[in-house]
Amino acid sequence: MKLGAYTFQPEKAQGFDFHVLRVKPETGIRLTPVQDMYSNVAVFADNIAVKNHPDWVSQSALGPAKLGNNNFNFYWDVVCATQPEHRAEQLKYIAEVDGRSQGVWLNSQYFADHGHCICPRCTTLWKKSGLSWLEWRRREVTEYIAQIRERVKKELVLCIQPDPVSSYERYGVDFDDLAAYADMFNVVMFSKNYATPWYWEMLTRGFKKLLKKPFYISFYVFGPGDNPKDVPSVAELLTVSTRCARAGADGFLYLTDSAGQLRNFQKRAFAQTDLIEKLRSYGGQPIREFLDYVASWKSIV
Ligand SMILES: [Zn+2]
Repeated sequence: MKLGAYTFQPEKAQGFDFHVLRVKPETGIRLTPVQDMYSNVAVFADNIAVKNHPDWVSQSALGPAKLGNNNFNFYWDVVCATQPEHRAEQLKYIAEVDGRSQGVWLNSQYFADHGHCICPRCTTLWKKSGLSWLEWRRREVTEYIAQIRERVKKELVLCIQPDPVSSYERYGVDFDDLAAYADMFNVVMFSKNYATPWYWEMLTRGFKKLLKKPFYISFYVFGPGDNPKDVPSVAELLTVSTRCARAGADGFLYLTDSAGQLRNFQKRAFAQTDLIEKLRSYGGQPIREFLDYVASWKSIV
């Protein structure tokens, strides 16, 4: 059981095994990589790229992959996954951040969602491929990951959406294809509310069954600009982590904007002594490891 800090700011919080910095989040802004942190890069979700090149946006019969298109769950703008200039630039960028950090964690390295992309280039590529629409998308995603793998010399972690059933149809993601290139997976289970841990535990069991590489789960603690009233409670985070630990996750990451917000989470977590005592009865070794880890924060923060 390993725990990681997942932050937007380049500052390391104490008390974690590793640190992942969002060097290029979906907004498209780019931070300087940090040598002893991992670099997280959103590949095709990129507001700046779409702003600079509106014709690069991923297209579908239900409209483009832009924030505000409520046919989908878009919180940002997404570039077409076959856009050649964006692909080439991202390959170069990923190689560069790999060299300047501990390794690369990718997200949004696939199609925007179901029905994407039907731009003229994608339509032509698909027809030329002789494959079914879904198989063509899968091949596009997998071949691009293979090109990325050639450029990442350190650890490569591939983030996947919390959908174990339909990732192929929605994103062109085949878990077995990606397992050939990924050192680990990271299942992003971001939510502002973990009041129903049963569902997250079920998703974890699903991924445990399907994924052929170890996987982390990322939980949402406190995002940039959040109102403290709108974020998950510490009790919810401890409970959902415990439930996912017993379902077979290999570790957790906790997302905050800054290291200070993580320290605040750690302080409030180990203070939940009654809840921690209760959670110890939820299962065996993985749960003990996780809760001992939480208890160890007392001496650090
Ligand atoms: Zn396209």
